[in-house]
Amino acid sequence: MEKIPSQDVTPNPVGHHTPSETVTQEMYAKRRHIYVREIKGVFQKLRRSANWALMLAFFLLPWINIGGRPLILFDLPNREFHIFTATFYPQEFILLSWLLIICAFGLFFITVFAGRVWCGYTCPQSVWTFLFIWLEHRIEGSRNRRIKLDSQPMSADKAWRKGAKHTAWLLIALATGITFVGYFTPIRDLVAELPTLEAHGWSYFWVGFFLVFTYLNAGWLREQVCIYMCPYARFQSVMFDRDTLIVSYDETRGEPRGHRKKGLSHLEAREAGYGDCIDCDLCVQVCPTGIDIRDGLQYECITCAACIDACDSVMDKMGYPRGLVRYTTENALEGKKSHILRPRLLAYFAALLVMIGTFVWAVNDRMPLDFEAERERTQLYQMTREGQISNVFSLTIRNLDDQDHNYQLSVAGLPSLTLDSRTISVPAGESRFKAVTVTANPDDLQQPSHAIVFTLQAQQAADIRLERETSFLGDIRR
Ligand code: SF4
Ligand code: SF4
Repeated sequence: MEKIPSQDVTPNPVGHHTPSETVTQEMYAKRRHIYVREIKGVFQKLRRSANWALMLAFFLLPWINIGGRPLILFDLPNREFHIFTATFYPQEFILLSWLLIICAFGLFFITVFAGRVWCGYTCPQSVWTFLFIWLEHRIEGSRNRRIKLDSQPMSADKAWRKGAKHTAWLLIALATGITFVGYFTPIRDLVAELPTLEAHGWSYFWVGFFLVFTYLNAGWLREQVCIYMCPYARFQSVMFDRDTLIVSYDETRGEPRGHRKKGLSHLEAREAGYGDCIDCDLCVQVCPTGIDIRDGLQYECITCAACIDACDSVMDKMGYPRGLVRYTTENALEGKKSHILRPRLLAYFAALLVMIGTFVWAVNDRMPLDFEAERERTQLYQMTREGQISNVFSLTIRNLDDQDHNYQLSVAGLPSLTLDSRTISVPAGESRFKAVTVTANPDDLQQPSHAIVFTLQAQQAADIRLERETSFLGDIRR
């Protein structure tokens, strides 16, 4: 029977105590400031490219207009959600929920396949934290200089460096706050109105909120968010299996670790009883969550691969083969065969494909028109001078298409029905409200209420057509 690997995690008492003695221990570990060392390498290049691309997309998207309309705008007051060329309305929220479910399944699939790769490469918390660390490095200097600077008493040099760093952080946090709010209110107007105090009170509140949120999260809390606050960090391990790609230290190859004479070849080191790890600590110094990958798989690891690049650079210097720390699987580490295409992964993939397919079909099949017809409630019906019965209806027409449309309105249900208005124009992505009067010959009315059907047909597109059933009230006292 296969044994479950276990580890003794009994807290280490300080000194020896008899059972009657009280041992006082801190309930929460004291935070250790992490001075992240900058490292170059293949994975860091990949990570930085992904980070810059995502940040660029975040900051630029609200500024892009197509045909005079923002590419992305969640217009809450008007309850219209412009996403690329389509406009969605609250009644289509099912599509948004579907999209969120697809994202969740996409995340499950990625996690089963490559662990917490989302965290290391694309999560906004990591992206902004890396940006803040990058600025810290540019302003305060390398890891060693930062440690030295923090241990020094305040001086003019320290004051300007700290001041410049926090100013830069705050400016980025401000830009983040404005951009975030720019997804909900047109950003060009927002940027013009904010300094002149003409913006809405809520705009100031949310810009301030995201300014503080970004500054604290990326500047101060950093890895604490990943370790203690992020729910994904808590449950992602249940999605791992022995074939999930993880960042791992090859213990068989690396141990026994130890410092050695410079210039000792790989073979000589082996003969001297050394493994490949020279115990330089570089993998720990570059880790944004401050862990030692040599202690095994830990939930704090965000799979950023900085330790892989660090260790590869050491291996290159030593003339040893790369990959002492690498992306691998638990099975591969134990010398067993890894199965990339395994049932769980294929099941997630199949579910994901079905959901994406259904979503694309639903979006393509969606009628780019919404239409409501309600009878005027304050007045049941009217008798015209000509002796006809009339009902007034309020129509709400939403053109969900990316083109302007002229619609033809018709009504059916009684032989003598007539309309006072038959065409309605609605620009792309906009709504129009219209009151129409429907009249009928009282001789046709056999009961107090008759079902009638309004039909709205786009003049230039035969497939854009909607019907709405309502009731026509009339006089039956003849
Ligand atoms: S252990 Fe390595 S991969 Fe994991 S967070 Fe630290 S540096 Fe990144
Ligand atoms: S960077 Fe590589 S060689 Fe250096 S301590 Fe880490 S695992 Fe060992």
